[in-house]
Amino acid sequence: MDHFEHRDGVLHVEGVSAEVIAEAVGTPVYIYSRATLERHAQVFRDAVAGSGRHHVAFAVKANPNLAVLRVLAKAGLGADVVSGGEMARALAAGMAPADIVFSGVGKTDAELAAGLEAGIGQFNLEVEEEGRVLGALAAARGQRAPAVLRVNPDVDAGTHAKISTGRAENKFGIAISDAPAMFDRLAREPGLDLRGIAVHIGSQLGDLAPLEASYRRIGQLLADLRAAGHAISHVDLGGGLGVPYRPGETLPTPAEFGAMVARVTQDWDVTLMFEPGRVIAGNAGVLLTRVIWVKPGEGHPWVIVDAAMNDLARPALYDAYHDFVAMRPSGTRMTANIAGPVCESGDTFAKAREIDVVARGDLAVFRTAGAYGATMASTYNSRAKVPEVLVDGTRFAVVSERIEPQAIAAAEAMPDWL
Ligand SMILES: *Cc1c(COP(=O)(O)O)cnc(C)c1O
Repeated sequence: MDHFEHRDGVLHVEGVSAEVIAEAVGTPVYIYSRATLERHAQVFRDAVAGSGRHHVAFAVKANPNLAVLRVLAKAGLGADVVSGGEMARALAAGMAPADIVFSGVGKTDAELAAGLEAGIGQFNLEVEEEGRVLGALAAARGQRAPAVLRVNPDVDAGTHAKISTGRAENKFGIAISDAPAMFDRLAREPGLDLRGIAVHIGSQLGDLAPLEASYRRIGQLLADLRAAGHAISHVDLGGGLGVPYRPGETLPTPAEFGAMVARVTQDWDVTLMFEPGRVIAGNAGVLLTRVIWVKPGEGHPWVIVDAAMNDLARPALYDAYHDFVAMRPSGTRMTANIAGPVCESGDTFAKAREIDVVARGDLAVFRTAGAYGATMASTYNSRAKVPEVLVDGTRFAVVSERIEPQAIAAAEAMPDWL
């Protein structure tokens, strides 16, 4: 459920007409709904409530906006971060250091040190050497770093290749067959409190079976490590639950996911960590855009909008589908291609899509843009950095300003020899 609905024929975000936001802030603009973020956080927490001791850490990379993170912190979520920059954002948004997990396949020494300095709750190790470096850094500070080993279970998540992370050929985690020996070696590091294992097999998963298969492998590894004498108190089950992007699409619900987890992990006797990203933020945001032209095309007309691949990269990156809905649907429909102004054929949001009839000057939204949307934005083609707005009931605020091309150019410098 979300809070993006047409009222009296006009699209509203909670109690605010999206037309009012377009008027005040201009387009393109991302709009998030606080009530939807809070609801999704609550639904997820309820879904995993039956799985014993656990902690939920929002995957910051899905939506790192500070105001969004503050909403989720207030809703009781911690953070899963993959860079020093994301860690700083989670802390700035008010998340407790102990509620932050530091993931990421290439943490630098400086990032590891910053994590130790901040008192981060858990480091997810990706490489044996990372354990040694972290252990040495921690020992030098008189600390023991809480850490788990991320394993790659070699399970096909059945998702898009570019967001699949749990196959042997992917760069993530250490091979599950190498894990016991590596765990033995790293458990002897005096600066490490090596206390568990982590897994994350991919994103936008449309089926629970690959998740269940990977968790069963983790359960076997857990038993093997305990048999070898290791005290395992924590298992991180990652994120990856998908969200419906297409009208009528059905995916496994958080409740079904939670029931599966409770069933698979009932004898584990550990603290579980969850790292949901998309399922919290995806349907809590839209990208509002204005139609520049409707241009005749060979098969279908091209609806050229003022949002582009630099604002919302997912269609160009993953052939992703984002539903396109008019601000004031007339009830009539047309078949069209939808594209942005960027000079790349990849800057196409939809081909031969049946949509509400729109004309030059009309407003519309791309739905389900709250995750992996604004955070992937660039300023390609010297376009502005897209702004973000948060709605709360009948009020709204710009929570990330539009950065105009002039401001971006102002950060460039001309060498004095030119
Ligand atoms: C990206 C990522 C997540 C979140 O994935 P979603 O599909 O957005 O839930 C969780 N954990 C790790 C380690 C990640 O890289």
